[in-house]
Amino acid sequence: MVSITCYGGVDEIGGNKIIVEDGDTRFSFDFGTSFGRRYDYYEEYLKPRAAVGLLDMLFMGLLPPLEGIYREDLLPRADFWARWRTAPRYRRLTLDGVLLSHAHIDHSGYISFLDPEIPVYSSLITAFTSKAMQDSGQADFEREVCYANLRDCQDDVLRTSKVSKRRPFIFLDKPPGESSARTFWNSIPFKTKELEVVTAEPQSDTVGSLPLRHFPVDHSIFGATAFAVETSEGWLGYTGDLRLHGAGRENTLRFVEEMRNLQPLALLCEGTRAGWRCEEDSGGRGVRECAGRGQAGERFGSGRFWPAQCGAFACLSRDRAGNRAQPSGAGQRCLLAGGYVPGVAGEGTGHPEFS
Ligand SMILES: [Zn+2]
Repeated sequence: MVSITCYGGVDEIGGNKIIVEDGDTRFSFDFGTSFGRRYDYYEEYLKPRAAVGLLDMLFMGLLPPLEGIYREDLLPRADFWARWRTAPRYRRLTLDGVLLSHAHIDHSGYISFLDPEIPVYSSLITAFTSKAMQDSGQADFEREVCYANLRDCQDDVLRTSKVSKRRPFIFLDKPPGESSARTFWNSIPFKTKELEVVTAEPQSDTVGSLPLRHFPVDHSIFGATAFAVETSEGWLGYTGDLRLHGAGRENTLRFVEEMRNLQPLALLCEGTRAGWRCEEDSGGRGVRECAGRGQAGERFGSGRFWPAQCGAFACLSRDRAGNRAQPSGAGQRCLLAGGYVPGVAGEGTGHPEFS
């Protein structure tokens, strides 16, 4: 049984945190900042308090209460999790990795809060772009995607320490070859010591124990990558953000053909502009191509795929008999979280308003 739980990216643009569980493997497609929810409470000069670590983030619902996946140095108290263990969405979880589709903050930003031992799988360009964004931006604990600036706790207040840990990135396409590139990757501006790397970087063709494939796609930032993971129920695809009207259009088309060959059980598809009336030059065109233009699913060859709008995401799914799957009683918004895709079940979405 495969479980897919959306902790972000539903009924909003970006903020994707889609956790997939299958046997002993658990991973997340992206772990981004939910801008809409964040700006309900904060704005440019009003930010979550770094001195209280995860407290504001969980209290405001910006992060789901998932004990075991976050940085321990951001816990202001040793008994921090005790108050959350009775929360409706609380659960213990571990992650074998984050599959990062691209360097836009609404897909990458809240990797900042994850345990720095969790590997991040991305293209080389996505990793380096994320590093450049962190190096050149203001010090901000919401922007520690590539390396975590660890905090010490003194009198229940978190203060910046001198220790930084680089997350173990797995470069999916190629390693940094040039020595200057390695120097860039292994250093922080204005600091002389190298970043500490927590764990050895594992193979790039699996996440946990599941086979992993990656595909370059076209988007408004270089390095965008789509993924396919072979679960115990079949291939599961994830587009990240993609489009068909840019210079990398051929990459998106190639990805669509590759997915057709894989005959996936489901494709989690970017759908910010999805819809059958979307403009020809909009990003929705890429989504529409993936959706097989709505009815026949000819792009996937089988004629057994039907798209369903899911907030910012569309899910294309089929059942094993080739029959059209029906949304669960909870409605389309829950289709990624329970019942819509046969063989795939979830444990509810990350936020009460999505349940
Ligand atoms: Zn994007």
